Amino acid sequence: PVATANSLSILHLKRDLQIPTILKARDEDGDGYSEGKVVNTRFGSFPHSTLIGLPWGSQVRASKVDTGSRGRRGQGKDKKRKREESENAPNKAPKLEEDAEDLSTPNATKEEKEAVVASSGFIHILPPTPENWTSSLPHRTQVVYTPDYSYILHRLRARPGTRIIEAGAGSGSFTHASARAVYSGYPEDVGDAKKERKLGKVWSFEFHEQRHEKLQKEIQDHGLESIVQITHRDVCEEGFLVNGESPNAEAVFLDLPAPWLALPHLLRSPPSKAETNGSQPFISPLGPAAPVHICTFSPCIEQVQRTVSVMRTLGWVDIEMVELSQKRFEIRRERIGIDNGAQRGLQSVPASVEESVARLKEVEGTFKAFHESGDRPEASKKDRGNPNNRDKIIESLVERKVYKEGKLVHRTEPEVKTHTSYLVFAVLPQEWTVEDEARAREKWEVLIRTEED
Ligand code: SAM
Repeated sequence: PVATANSLSILHLKRDLQIPTILKARDEDGDGYSEGKVVNTRFGSFPHSTLIGLPWGSQVRASKVDTGSRGRRGQGKDKKRKREESENAPNKAPKLEEDAEDLSTPNATKEEKEAVVASSGFIHILPPTPENWTSSLPHRTQVVYTPDYSYILHRLRARPGTRIIEAGAGSGSFTHASARAVYSGYPEDVGDAKKERKLGKVWSFEFHEQRHEKLQKEIQDHGLESIVQITHRDVCEEGFLVNGESPNAEAVFLDLPAPWLALPHLLRSPPSKAETNGSQPFISPLGPAAPVHICTFSPCIEQVQRTVSVMRTLGWVDIEMVELSQKRFEIRRERIGIDNGAQRGLQSVPASVEESVARLKEVEGTFKAFHESGDRPEASKKDRGNPNNRDKIIESLVERKVYKEGKLVHRTEPEVKTHTSYLVFAVLPQEWTVEDEARAREKWEVLIRTEED
């Protein structure tokens, strides 16, 4: 329920700017932050010591203390240390804080940074979830966004206990989402829930060395090692066994440039002897006791065609391609005329004639003139029988002021982040032998006899 030291939290600056930070209370690693680290943002400075222990979702005001200079002194020492470290280990992943500060004040001068530190805004502190990790993670590749992975995990039947193969892991966006899906979610000490716990597993593969290393570090930092097993591997060449053992997967997600090259490694039974030379005993990476659900994620239709062809030859069924198109509807009131709305492509919620005419008059300035005209005979005459006459307008003003706030309009927001790709789904049925059939028949016969009895 609260942010704790040495664990990941997400500092939410605004909708499109979130900073992932591992909170450090004390100078545990001797890097000069004796009072805990400080995150300097365009909304002010936030010492970690003021964040630790806060309930998730808290709004946090920037520190009034000049933490900036304290932070900067710390950073000076830290930079020196980091320089020394990087000379010894050039590929070491940067600290999250560094990324965060660069993100928040990327090109600021020293004076601007001081001004930022002096200003006091606020942020929110959020718990790490796959959703806010996806929107704040350090991008190393294109990532799978929340609208896609929600649908994919649903179609893969991912649930607590599921064993899922994922390749390539890339920036780890899908990895985190699938880790949550297969984990039971109950803490160890919740009484009976412990008995119910089913620990699934994500078997993740990535052939790019630095990406593999960085993701491994993140998985450790986020405490997910028991759920996610990452292997540095070209899956198209070497398949999905890990140290000769089968992941026994029931779900597979392939986000690879050529998924059709990985498919021949996802078999239930051995390929022909000619192909294997009969040398290695065959072990399937797939679980034998359930159908396997697969999804491949490809940006081009040509990739889809090749994937589907290979799937057909390898016995996958129920093959289907889906393209997701997420739209967010923005709904609000606008003080505009009907025609203006139509011209701007807005789709209006139909208003009554009375409201529409009154609004038009208002927009065009005739509303004021109408009031000024008072009880002029020609005005009264003209408006007799008109639903928009003075009395009716006043009545509607008194009773239903809402139109004064504008007409209800909606439009779709084009800028929803999602990496548009084609999703190919398929199922590899459970293997069914003559013995399985005999056992099934036996069970049926028992059932039928029981029914008859
Ligand atoms: N799904 C990831 C995410 O949500 O962050 C992004 C995956 S990224 C688009 C594709 C990744 O596949 C790259 O990191 C690439 O290095 C990796 N890759 C490509 N071919 C591979 C192969 N044959 N074996 C393992 N990984 C591979």
